[in-house]
Amino acid sequence: MKTATLFFFLCAVLGVGIAVAPQLDAKVPNQQVVAAYFPRTVVFANVLLTGDYLIVHDDDNADRGDACLFVYRKAGDAPIVAVHCTRVLREKADTFRVVTRQLAAGVKEIQEVQFAGTSVAHRLF
Ligand SMILES: [Zn+2]
Repeated sequence: MKTATLFFFLCAVLGVGIAVAPQLDAKVPNQQVVAAYFPRTVVFANVLLTGDYLIVHDDDNADRGDACLFVYRKAGDAPIVAVHCTRVLREKADTFRVVTRQLAAGVKEIQEVQFAGTSVAHRLF
C-alpha cells in the first residue's frame, strides 16, 4: 500500500508548536492538542472526518494502555474517535503531521499523527 505524507492546513496557532484548546489543556497537562482542518474527507479509525476537529493525545492514558488518541468536533463534546495508539520515534516535526494511505480513489486513511514540536508519532495500526 502506497503511503503518502500530507501536511494538512492547520489553524494559525501552529506557529507556537502545539495548538492548545484551553478547556482541555487547563485540566490535563500531559495532553497534546491540535486544531486540525481536513478539507477533504479522511478516514480516522473507521470514522469519516471532514472539516474542523480537535485531535488530542493523552500520554497518561497511553502509559496505562487505555485509549489515548481522541478526536472531538469541538471542545466539551464527547470524542467521536477514541483509540489506543502505538508510539513510534520520528524526526522532530515543526508542524502537526499526518501520514495517510490511499484506501480507494479519493479516499485516504490516516495512519499516524505527530504533534508539532515532538519526536513521537502516534500510529493507529
Ligand atoms: Zn497514544
